[in-house]
Amino acid sequence: MIRIAVCCLCLKTKKENLILFGKNICQDCEAELTQSSTEDLSYDLYVKKMKDVLTAPSKEDKNMV
Ligand SMILES: [Zn+2]
Repeated sequence: MIRIAVCCLCLKTKKENLILFGKNICQDCEAELTQSSTEDLSYDLYVKKMKDVLTAPSKEDKNMV
């Protein structure tokens, strides 16, 4: 069964790929993450973005309050 979810990194609606802490990371972003090296500038950006995403309260959490 194919599920559609919003990617937490590029914020595009894509096929559910990798669910990390309840958030979807699309195939494109997963590839970017895994292909990036620590010398790559975009790696830093992705790590920062990931931290933002993973530490920010999700919409679901807000709804439950
Ligand atoms: Zn993505």
